[in-house]
Amino acid sequence: MSRIEARRDEDTVAAGPLVDGLLRGLPPEAVLTDPDVTASYANDMASFCPAGSPAVVVLPRTVEQVQHVMRTATELRVPVVPQGARTGLSGGANATDGCIVLSLTKMDRILEISPVDRIAVVEPGVVNAALSRAVGEHGLYYPPDPSSWEQCTIGGNIGTASGGLCCVKYGVTAEYVLGLDVVLADGRLMSTGRRTAKGVAGYDLTRLFVGSEGSLGIVVRAILALRPKPPAQLVLAAEFSSGAAACDAVCRIMAGGHVPSLLELMDRTTVKAVNDLAHMGLPDSTEALLLAAFDTTDPAADLAAVGALCEAAGATQVVPAEDAAESELLLQARRLSLVALEAVKGTTMIDDVCVPRSRLGELIDGVERISEKYRLTIGVVAHAGDGNTHPTVCFDAQDPEESRRARESFDEIMALGLELGGTITGEHGVGVLKKEWLARELGPVGLEMQRAVKHVFDPLNILNPGKLF
Ligand SMILES: Cc1cc2nc3c(=O)[nH]c(=O)nc-3n(C[C@H](O)[C@H](O)[C@H](O)COP(=O)(O)OP(=O)(O)OC[C@H]3O[C@@H](n4cnc5c(N)ncnc54)[C@H](O)[C@@H]3O)c2cc1C
Repeated sequence: MSRIEARRDEDTVAAGPLVDGLLRGLPPEAVLTDPDVTASYANDMASFCPAGSPAVVVLPRTVEQVQHVMRTATELRVPVVPQGARTGLSGGANATDGCIVLSLTKMDRILEISPVDRIAVVEPGVVNAALSRAVGEHGLYYPPDPSSWEQCTIGGNIGTASGGLCCVKYGVTAEYVLGLDVVLADGRLMSTGRRTAKGVAGYDLTRLFVGSEGSLGIVVRAILALRPKPPAQLVLAAEFSSGAAACDAVCRIMAGGHVPSLLELMDRTTVKAVNDLAHMGLPDSTEALLLAAFDTTDPAADLAAVGALCEAAGATQVVPAEDAAESELLLQARRLSLVALEAVKGTTMIDDVCVPRSRLGELIDGVERISEKYRLTIGVVAHAGDGNTHPTVCFDAQDPEESRRARESFDEIMALGLELGGTITGEHGVGVLKKEWLARELGPVGLEMQRAVKHVFDPLNILNPGKLF
């Protein structure tokens, strides 16, 4: 019996040229067609993002199999939606009707770690935290650390150009991607970039792919830069009686030439939500909590200097951790923020507006006004050192009127971000959630050029169509 026939016998395969074509280059277990199973691959974690029903989900394990998927898709003009762990927050990994969901999660091998070249070569399905742990064993460090690091994949991190808590010191994913192997829409394999410390040969196509949200090609291998592992960080928590005072402290810290390894802010709403969820005993009276960390050789001295700046900005209490365990405890509150805000009303819309740090205070004030205007709870968690805020709208998705207000408040926050000289997305990407806003941010000429780039790589518009534009 042929492989295709065997597969048809086995389960509910929707026979047809697509599945038949895929099975010519993929093993049966890598081609999922049961509608209950394929439906479970329809969404990432964003709210308010429509998703279609995939025709099929494929789970390749090799580059050749990915090439076969793309050749089949091109031949049959079927859209392809690449997926990592689907922790995305913009609908970028959402299925479109009749698409092939191309899940890269089975391509999860770390192929090389080189302490001399300070690089790692990985497949796209490697989970961020797994890579961090593996390079840590060699005394090395892969800095980009999205809060979802225990789930999200390197392919997804590259797709969204993701950031994280330590980016204030170490930068975002884009700064660590040296080279890529990419399967193009028609199945050809292209290598970009380098594994050397320097290199300027030709246009920087590597950087173009970072943040392209699966719209230009499928990343099947990445060469990532590593750093020596820094000393463990020490954390300080400072409590403020206003958001403005906390933002003033952020400005003083950055203007003072300090380089914290983390500088995070939680507003009153978020602190309360964390207390309600986890009973962490954070001061309920606080209007804003700032967390700063240093991973230098004398972190206690750095924390003392930054603590003094917080006090000068009006901090009501400054608590430096004495060791790694205390530091971790202080960070727990930050890590729980999004889960805690979700518990407020059952659903959240997480915005991702990034403004110049000097305008952070204005953004936080503005979000407060928007929350009053729309009668909604909106908690702000911010990578304050980057000016990257996550105003998180809490709402009841079962209530259409409240859902409408949530969407409107979300849009108004993006308008405010642009007004303050910022961007609609610092790290989560555009996906389907912010398509209209991308056009506003880029303007007509910028948008036309971006579409032209997309057309070069994907003339048939089969790669994650309907995302970004
Ligand atoms: C609790 C929580 C906390 C988060 N914290 C952060 C944070 O601190 N910082 C941050 O930046 N983000 C954060 N995120 C968002 C999300 O985790 C990141 O965007 C992450 O990079 C997505 O990775 P993923 O593997 O889940 O990718 P997916 O969601 O599956 O995909 C993301 C995008 O990349 C594309 N893609 C995936 N793999 C490939 C590939 N191999 N080739 C081409 N395109 C591909 C997809 O098509 C999609 O457009 C958070 C999400 C959650 C749920």
